[in-house]
Amino acid sequence: MPKIAIIGGTGIYSKDTFKVDSVVCPDTPYGKPADSIRIGKMNGVDVAFLYRHGEDHRFNPTEVPYRANMWALKELGVEMVVSACAVGSLQEEYAPGDLVIVDDFIDFTKKRDLTFVDDAAVHISLPEPFCPHMSEVFADTAKELGITYHRGGTYICIEGPRFSTKAESNMFRDYADIIGMTLVPECQLAKELGMCYCSLATVTDYDMWKDEPVDIKMVSDTMAKCLNYISKLLEAGLPKIISGRCGCSDPAEASGSLEHLKLRP
Ligand SMILES: [Zn+2]
Repeated sequence: MPKIAIIGGTGIYSKDTFKVDSVVCPDTPYGKPADSIRIGKMNGVDVAFLYRHGEDHRFNPTEVPYRANMWALKELGVEMVVSACAVGSLQEEYAPGDLVIVDDFIDFTKKRDLTFVDDAAVHISLPEPFCPHMSEVFADTAKELGITYHRGGTYICIEGPRFSTKAESNMFRDYADIIGMTLVPECQLAKELGMCYCSLATVTDYDMWKDEPVDIKMVSDTMAKCLNYISKLLEAGLPKIISGRCGCSDPAEASGSLEHLKLRP
């Protein structure tokens, strides 16, 4: 069974690089995941792939069933989650087309289920949300492939579906490097379940702070270029990831309060 899962959107893999062997759509205590989970091989590595918003993009960022997504992956035996996403840039040096390997986040969401713990008062520590092993492998691989990347960047997660106003965007610039709508609660739910997690964010635009109107063709052209290199990055990086499980997310260590998060046998 796959130890690695990729969560992303359309186009981050091709039929040439990811051979789907089976498809499952498990029930979870939190309902169905956003889509069926494709299981197959990428460059010799067993991988589970899940469309975060559903293949037909039916869930907006607020409505994505984050808990069902992560629970379903955990029950499949997944230990490491690679999250691919598109983001806006809040800083000049994070240019459209660049890759950001996220290393911190700020939560500006408003109406999401942020934990699996619904029936107890717990305080959850999250000193290292992002797996250092996976992040390092992808940074090294990005360098080898000649991808322009940033090893680190703070992601501010907003509720959406509305983009920031200009005033909001300028405020966020004081605290973060990139902005998106899906990292939270995905990353912290992964940690609650004891899975390593890393975020590969591709910059598509300069959000609202810069006096440059966002042109949809520019965004889609940038996205197309990014998808191409993300696909290559995954293909080259996954064999190195699987050969070096880091153990940064031991659920027993992650929180002593979560023993009652029992997965079904
Ligand atoms: Zn780890």
